[in-house]
Amino acid sequence: MGHTFIPLVDLRHGLIARAVPGDSPAPGGLLSDRLGRPLRDLRISVTDRCNFRCSYCMPKEVFDKSHAFLPHSALLSFEEITRTARVFVAHGVRKLRLTGGEPLLRKNLERLIEMLAALRTPDGQPLDITLTTNGSLLARKARALKDAGLQRVTVSLDALDDAIFRRMNDVDFPVADVLRGIEEAQAVGLAPIKVNMVVKRGTNDHEVLPMARHFRHSGIVLRFIEYMDVGATNGWRMDEVLPSAQLIETLQHTHALQAIDPQVEGETAERWRYVDGSGEIGLISSVTQAFCRDCNRARLSTEGKLFLCLFASAGHDLRTLLRGGASDEQIAAALAGIWSQRSDRYSELRGAAGGGSDAGARRVEMHYIGG
Ligand code: SAM
Ligand code: SF4
Ligand code: SF4
Repeated sequence: MGHTFIPLVDLRHGLIARAVPGDSPAPGGLLSDRLGRPLRDLRISVTDRCNFRCSYCMPKEVFDKSHAFLPHSALLSFEEITRTARVFVAHGVRKLRLTGGEPLLRKNLERLIEMLAALRTPDGQPLDITLTTNGSLLARKARALKDAGLQRVTVSLDALDDAIFRRMNDVDFPVADVLRGIEEAQAVGLAPIKVNMVVKRGTNDHEVLPMARHFRHSGIVLRFIEYMDVGATNGWRMDEVLPSAQLIETLQHTHALQAIDPQVEGETAERWRYVDGSGEIGLISSVTQAFCRDCNRARLSTEGKLFLCLFASAGHDLRTLLRGGASDEQIAAALAGIWSQRSDRYSELRGAAGGGSDAGARRVEMHYIGG
């Protein structure tokens, strides 16, 4: 059967949307891309707005008063998100992660969580539903999120030192409020909690040890993330990346740690445990050790574009299908057509090319498709 392509032009962010294959045969089950990778994990951005201005993600100078965020009508509605997720789940997705922007800024997010929590895999299993947040509103919202069916949460926190944290979020937000959010999430049973720390050499690398000490014995898994060259606005430089190999070496001077075998295929973090059983940490080495080979993640932007890679320059416009009267079968066929053509492996190629970034190339911004 031939393909008709629906070219859809997107002027936001200067990106051109990719064609959506129009009439691929509807798939019967699991999908596989051109490198044999299944589709397992869908990250859904529910807003492009954020109350922080982390310089590595939404630098203040760029995302200021004159920046045009999406109007409400452009956002996928909860019904549209749930319908899309249902189609994805029918074709292999087992894990949903809500992200943004700051997902807790989206009004009535609990309602969306309830709707997603009602979905089942083809063999009747509930999904693994989680959320990544900067934690600023978590103390207030943890209970409602848990009651709506959220199982666990990942909180981003780059420093314990209040002055450093305030400087990194660049809106003078105090660290104590995020720590209260984490405590509340723990209290209501949003477990296991993970804390993500983006490490920037020269900015917060001296916070690695205090953070490790703080979260050891807490049941919370602290994960160190290499500063990535996502987007085109953060002025990324390789010399600001602290390679995970160096970080673990430093940690091992003061903490006895041993590596844990990966449990799940496509896991992004390399896991280590304290030998005395007092906890676990993770290393996410997106820059120095690419994990594209197992990458089973798709990303749905706030306005319904499907991105196949964090470093993609364009997404496939599903919203036009959703709003244009397409049936679930047609959406499934489009998804199958898109996934079967996927060959993205940006980090691997960057590694093979010697580690330099092509930052400055037109690339989607992190706050727009989420992490
Ligand atoms: N606002 C929420 C938060 O900060 O958790 C969710 C969205 S944020 C884009 C998702 C994750 O991406 C966060 O853990 C953040 O630290 C991470 N992130 C953003 N820009 C990054 C960069 N340049 N390198 C590495 N991680 C980054
Ligand atoms: Fe906002 Fe999260 Fe980006 Fe920081 S990393 S600016 S909290 S979206
Ligand atoms: Fe996946 Fe793209 Fe990241 Fe590779 S660079 S792990 S393909 S998102």
